[in-house]
Amino acid sequence: MIVVLKPGVQQESRDQLITWLKNLGLNIHISEGCYQTVLGLVGDTGKVDMDLVESLDIVDSVKRISEPFKCCNRKFHPEDMVVEVGSVKIGGGNFCMIAGPCSVESEEQVVAVAKAVKAAGADLLRGGAFKPRTSPYDFPGLRAEGLELLRIARAETGLPIVTEIMSASDLDLFEDIDVLQVGARNMQNYDLLRELGKLNKPILLKRGLANTLKELLMSAEYIMANGNEQIILCERGIRTYTDYTRNTLDLAAVPMLHELSHLPVIVDPSHATGISRLVRPMAKAATACGADGLIIEVHNDPIHALCDGAQSLTPEEYVTVAQEVRRIREIL
Ligand code: PEP
Ligand code: MN
Repeated sequence: MIVVLKPGVQQESRDQLITWLKNLGLNIHISEGCYQTVLGLVGDTGKVDMDLVESLDIVDSVKRISEPFKCCNRKFHPEDMVVEVGSVKIGGGNFCMIAGPCSVESEEQVVAVAKAVKAAGADLLRGGAFKPRTSPYDFPGLRAEGLELLRIARAETGLPIVTEIMSASDLDLFEDIDVLQVGARNMQNYDLLRELGKLNKPILLKRGLANTLKELLMSAEYIMANGNEQIILCERGIRTYTDYTRNTLDLAAVPMLHELSHLPVIVDPSHATGISRLVRPMAKAATACGADGLIIEVHNDPIHALCDGAQSLTPEEYVTVAQEVRRIREIL
């Protein structure tokens, strides 16, 4: 349920109403906009007498929210959410370029790629240390050592780092990591999501291989209901009956998610297509349809990459993509 307050309401009357609602056992989410304040009521709202609340002098309107996701619902928070990573902003008109290798392989590799993507204008460095691989015989990532190499690359370039966490039991290792990524395969790992909800740091939440937008938003809701509102949603392609690409990039998800939620939405054209030459056109299309950023795999030696070489751009190719994306942003 949402309660929209009239403009210019006194702080004291507002606080009285909030205290009264909290005493009904509800959590109150306050969204302070330029023109109006919206109170989002989370919990068993069956106890709230809507007519009574609507009759109050300070209340403009009361609406029930039919969607099962509340905290990440745009109706709770009409203005775009801006997620901040150091001085980098994502959402609300701020576009973010994330780039780096699929997996961290060596200091030389990750530092070289970090320097190259920074020079091309990237804002954040990505790189997997804990890798969710389909086969148990594939390279699983350098794990704690990989995180250490990411820290070295961050120190060398100043780029904040984004890396995947697969299990809440590893959380101690990730303490100084700037953005934690929840991969497609873990989108519905609810115990992990609950633990990430207790942190005060941005979470990059990727859509599962076969998940609906409602399921993605319900996963965001798990994190938000536990207190962490700093979430970046990511469309990374879904399983369909397409035969020539790794996945199908669901670009309509971008404007749809923007309609449903105030959270920023970025696109991963690398995992969506699986083919490096398709990354450039899909990165441009994602930018044109209003994505708040792109996460792109870049490798200094794609042919010898230990993971996802076929979809990795060379640093030179990334420069071109970044330039073209900037041109599209200027038009927008
Ligand atoms: C990744 O970003 O390295 C990754 C494994 O992506 P996804 O979870 O989308 O497959
Ligand atoms: Mn990858």
